[in-house]
Amino acid sequence: PNSKAGDGKPRLLLMGQRRSGKSSISSVVFHKLPPSETLYLETTTRIKKESMHSFMDFQVWDFPGHLDYFDPAFDVDNIFEEIGALIWVIDAQDEYLEAIMRLNTTILNLQHSYPNINVEVFVHKVDGLSEDYKGDTFRDIIQRVQDELSDHGYENAPVSFYQTSIYDHSIFEAFSKVIQKLIPQLPTLEALLNSLCSTCHIEKAYLFDIMSKIYIATDTSPTDIGSYEICSDYIDVVIDVSEIYGWPRGEQNGDDGSPAETGNNDAESLITMERKGNNYLYLREINKYVNPRECPRECKWCQRPDRYLALICLMGDDSPAEKKAVIDYNVGVFQAALKQVFPRAERDAVEAQTA
Ligand code: GDP
Repeated sequence: PNSKAGDGKPRLLLMGQRRSGKSSISSVVFHKLPPSETLYLETTTRIKKESMHSFMDFQVWDFPGHLDYFDPAFDVDNIFEEIGALIWVIDAQDEYLEAIMRLNTTILNLQHSYPNINVEVFVHKVDGLSEDYKGDTFRDIIQRVQDELSDHGYENAPVSFYQTSIYDHSIFEAFSKVIQKLIPQLPTLEALLNSLCSTCHIEKAYLFDIMSKIYIATDTSPTDIGSYEICSDYIDVVIDVSEIYGWPRGEQNGDDGSPAETGNNDAESLITMERKGNNYLYLREINKYVNPRECPRECKWCQRPDRYLALICLMGDDSPAEKKAVIDYNVGVFQAALKQVFPRAERDAVEAQTA
């Protein structure tokens, strides 16, 4: 994994042509903008740096599509030196040949100086396409990128492709996969989650960033989008409930909308277990972070105090009541192990408690 950055923060860069959907993606994923409201967003016309405050930090640099970033006047080193992944957004509903050409030029340029950057191609807005057409378009784009790169002598380029849309969970899944590649501790996290699953007969366990609904790790049993969706919907429920009942701590300061002090240090961490159809869902807050950075859009979401990493487990319905104590105990063990893996997370938690 190449989460290289001077400040230790994996950095993502979002690029693509104008109107491909970059602003929409970062607004929906990081600012909880309802997808339909992206219709009214201003298109990206300048470089925007946004950092996401989480147990890990990353930045979304929203580039305008028309910018010539290989112009010598432009500080390429400054931009590419520290990024872990370049996300290239292609509008699948539009003509994409020029987008592919620019992508390939970028990859070939980067190849020499920055061979470790993961290139992640989001074949975006696939919601508008029929199943057949969607598959064909996806394959066509992959083929064209690979052919052209190998024509230039670049075989097996480290480029991954995802089909995405802001109208369903696919954009969150894709981000999750992109970010996981940037977490050097991923194998350890997966091993911890595997062991938790087998000890407690859990079918699927995810470590979620509640704020963005990106999961930073899951156990290594096969993932299907269905279990992601169940967990992600559950987060919405928990968030809504905590909004209505003011749980778990700290509230908006009301009228002026300024954020409350982070963290009531006496508040217990959230643990819930609920039946959902034939499944039981278990959610437990793992750590909270310090009060978020300033949000340039001043969105309400970013000012919420309850930002944390949560473990969400999906399991069958055999004797959950007895199970809960066992799970609580083992999750406690997991949480302690996690703190060893991420000393930074622990620091954040401490800061949050003393804030
Ligand atoms: P940018 O110039 O790359 O930042 O593009 P914008 O984020 O401004 O998006 C351009 C248009 O694409 C907007 O009208 C969005 O509503 C629309 N859009 C973005 N993502 C999607 C998507 O996943 N599906 C569909 N159907 N439209 C999208």
